[in-house]
Amino acid sequence: MGDNSQQFSRAKGVIPGGVNSPVRAFRSVGGTPRFLVGARGPFVTDVEGREYVDLVCSWGPALLGHAHPSVVKAVQDAAARGLSFGASTPAETELAELVRERTTIDGTRLFDRIRMVSTGTEATMTAIRLARGATGRDVIIKFAGHYHGHSDGLLADAGSGVATLGLPGSAGVPAEVAGLTLVLPYNDLDAVRAAFLAHPGRIAGVITEAAGANAGVLAPERGFNRALAALARENGALIIVDEVLTGFRVGPAGWWGLEAARVVPDGAGWTPDLVTFGKVIGGGMPLAAVAGRAEVMDLLAPLGPVYQAGTLSGNPVAVAAGIATLRAADAAVYERVDAAADTVASALTAELSSAGVEHVLSRAGSLFSVAFRPDAVRDYDDARAQEGWRYGPFFSSMLEQGVNLPPSVFEAWFLSAAHDDAALDRILTALPAAARAAAAA
Ligand code: PMP
Repeated sequence: MGDNSQQFSRAKGVIPGGVNSPVRAFRSVGGTPRFLVGARGPFVTDVEGREYVDLVCSWGPALLGHAHPSVVKAVQDAAARGLSFGASTPAETELAELVRERTTIDGTRLFDRIRMVSTGTEATMTAIRLARGATGRDVIIKFAGHYHGHSDGLLADAGSGVATLGLPGSAGVPAEVAGLTLVLPYNDLDAVRAAFLAHPGRIAGVITEAAGANAGVLAPERGFNRALAALARENGALIIVDEVLTGFRVGPAGWWGLEAARVVPDGAGWTPDLVTFGKVIGGGMPLAAVAGRAEVMDLLAPLGPVYQAGTLSGNPVAVAAGIATLRAADAAVYERVDAAADTVASALTAELSSAGVEHVLSRAGSLFSVAFRPDAVRDYDDARAQEGWRYGPFFSSMLEQGVNLPPSVFEAWFLSAAHDDAALDRILTALPAAARAAAAA
């Protein structure tokens, strides 16, 4: 099969940049992307047979660890019954009910109805269309540094790979479309108030990551989400909460669930009009969803005038993976993931401090990231104002020592319930040299 370099050269000859998603390209950290051939528990294995402790976890889905036996079995059983029917299945309803039950806190449902799609991008795109269809308005508010997938209207000042590559947005998005998105600083309710005042009767919806995690981790300030929802409602706009990344990862009912259950203070007592899920809901298979209040969701075809569809939507193999993942993701799983995150995050900050590297750790539940700057990150401008060049040498040192980190300082680190003491030890052992590499950069 050749080594990673040979694989990369070959891939570049036929796939743009050699990757099927830009964040995989190591553009900001340098070096050769690893070509993976397997993943099990907390580990991934590359084409050269090297094993790495994985802190990417497929960018979130692998909450239980890679290739969890009950998920693999569910997928194999479903595949044996047929790969895709293009028709309704009992399992779709089972997953829909399972998700709704899980996200009901103290009798309050996060949503009434849910529709399944294949990617987070589709989920947020449909949520935006629904907000416009429901209100008859066109303008959308999003926050700088938040990433909601790659649909035209949501790429302005986006996080994730758009931030990593330092792009303001994307070529190919018509100015008329981009002009319908207002980009505001995160955690700034005054900016939201001002936008509603400046565009009376024009704003269809406000979309926000439940907790920001695509420009580094950037939790909402206390009460921000609830106040944002109230502002949207007062102004006749819909509030859309994007839990593609946080949903079922930071807790059994996502970030909203942590707020509703008062694990996160001052956030309870509200529900979004629309919410989007992805990643963990499909357990590593292509599955995502948009959900919300019945009056809004029932505007979708075939009941209503807002069109949305998908050949592979509710795919039976993906649905089986989602059900098996959520059934296995009990309280003990979240305790393990939280504990693993505590261990890695505190070791990370201790080693960077002892190497004399100025840094701040941002955290939202079990998600965390590091920023090379002296004080806390509140918005995208803060996240960009850091000594980001220190991350490349840090990342490369970890990789050399067998730890696979997200290849960008703007991405969250992902743990899983399979990160046992042996896996964590390997991370902790690698940190001191990596911290010295960051210091020397
Ligand atoms: N929303 C958020 C918050 C995300 O983190 C992502 C992907 N990282 C998306 C939407 C898009 O999901 P997908 O990559 O499945 O299209």
